[in-house]
This record gives sequence, structure tokens and C-alpha cells, in this order.
Amino acid sequence: MIIYGSKMYGVKNVVKGTGVCPHCGAYGRHKSYDGRKWGHVYWIPLIPSGGPVRVMKECASCGMGNHLPQAQVGKLYREIEKLMQPCVLAASEGAHRFNDDQGNETFTGPFLIDAIDLMYTAGYRSEIPELIGLLDNDVSRYEYGIASGAYQEIQGDAAGALAGYQAASNAAPEEAFPYMLLADFSGRAGRHEEQLDMLNKAIELEPDNPQLLLVKIDPLEQLGRYQDILVVMEQAEAMIPGLAQDKQYKKQRKKYEKKAAKAMR
Ligand SMILES: [Zn+2]
Repeated sequence: MIIYGSKMYGVKNVVKGTGVCPHCGAYGRHKSYDGRKWGHVYWIPLIPSGGPVRVMKECASCGMGNHLPQAQVGKLYREIEKLMQPCVLAASEGAHRFNDDQGNETFTGPFLIDAIDLMYTAGYRSEIPELIGLLDNDVSRYEYGIASGAYQEIQGDAAGALAGYQAASNAAPEEAFPYMLLADFSGRAGRHEEQLDMLNKAIELEPDNPQLLLVKIDPLEQLGRYQDILVVMEQAEAMIPGLAQDKQYKKQRKKYEKKAAKAMR
């Protein structure tokens, strides 16, 4: 029997991290590395198939990762790098929003989470402490907490990440974003009441954000509170045009209606 297939060869610049898999949703270990896909016979590489790529966040559970051509990874990094200066500047002025080069309003918190995630998995890990260092001042406590939390989280230090996000929340209690990050932690630890408390705090701060409402469905389902899910769905429907007519959504809603009716009996 001839064994023929393809495999990644010449693997280098390996970084291991922790986070949510975009493919299967599992929270766990992932691996990022440079490599090149080769066809092989009896595990001897024969034919290169495609150029050098960076595999990002190859998941320990499902084995899936994002394969990006090396040139594209560099481009992504340069885009992030361009936004770092306005982000750090806004943070130094106590503002948690800044404009990108297209004039779009960007939030410092989510930007820093994405930036650190990309820097880490794209192979620019050594630049992260420098970025965090730029935020280490009294005015930028919120951004410093988010950035150092993100850096600890991707390195697998959950306690350090929690401390960072908590510090960010204390520094800027008017921001909803840290509550969302803290809610994720509570949810993964199975503390769904606490998760709901955090999400409710986020919703209080951003009452016009329907996404936050929909995020509540998961913990409510875990707690078996189907009647409350229907209330949340009704609120979301009033905020998102067309949602009530969406096929997938309607199916979900029916499922919860049935469960709510069953729980009533
Ligand atoms: Zn996965």
C-alpha cells in the first residue's frame, strides 16, 4: 500500500496559546507556526503544494487552524501596527475610543484584544511587552488592564487574565467591555448566575446593543430559564429589524417556546 497525502513540513516559529477556537468554539490550547504544505509518499515530502503559510490557532480539540499566506500575515500585522499609535495616544488622554485611518470609531479595549491575539499567533510575540509598556501609566489603567489580561490569557494564565480584566473594569466602570470578558470567564467556570450578573451590568451600560441581549440566551439556557429566554428574544426582536423573520432564529425560538411550555407543566 502506498501512503500518499499532504502534510506540513519545515515547521518553525511555533507559539502555543490558549483561547477560543473559531472553528469548533472549544476553549483550550492552540498552536501557531510557519510551514509549507507538501505532498508526500511514505511520509517523504515530494511536491510543495502552495507557498509558505502561517498556520494560526491550530486547535488541540478539532485540529483546524487558519492557513494564511506569509505575505498576508505581514500585511495584517502592519495594519494592526498602524492603529497602535492612535490607540495608545487615545489611552494616554483617557479616551477609550479613537478613529482609524478611514475615520471609523474604534474601541481601544476590543482593538487591544484583537491586536495582541494577532501579534501572538502571527509570530510577533516579542513586541507585545513593549506595547503593554506604553500603556503602563495612571491615565491608561483601563487599556493596561485589558492588554495585560489578554497577554496572560493567551499564555494560559487564567488567574492573571481575570486580574487584568478586573483592573480594567475598576479603572473604567462605565465601559461594558470588561464585563463581557468577565462574563466569559464565569460562563466557562460554570458560574452561570455570575455570568448573567456580568452581562446585565454590560447591558445597563449599553442598553441599545442587541448583541448583548442575545449573549444572555446561553447562560439562561444553562440555568433552564426558558421563559426568560423568550423575554430576551422579544426585546432583541424589537431592536433588530428582520430578526423575527429569520429562518434559523425562528427555529431556535420555537425550540425555546416548547421547552418553556414543558417547564410550565
Ligand atoms: Zn477547534
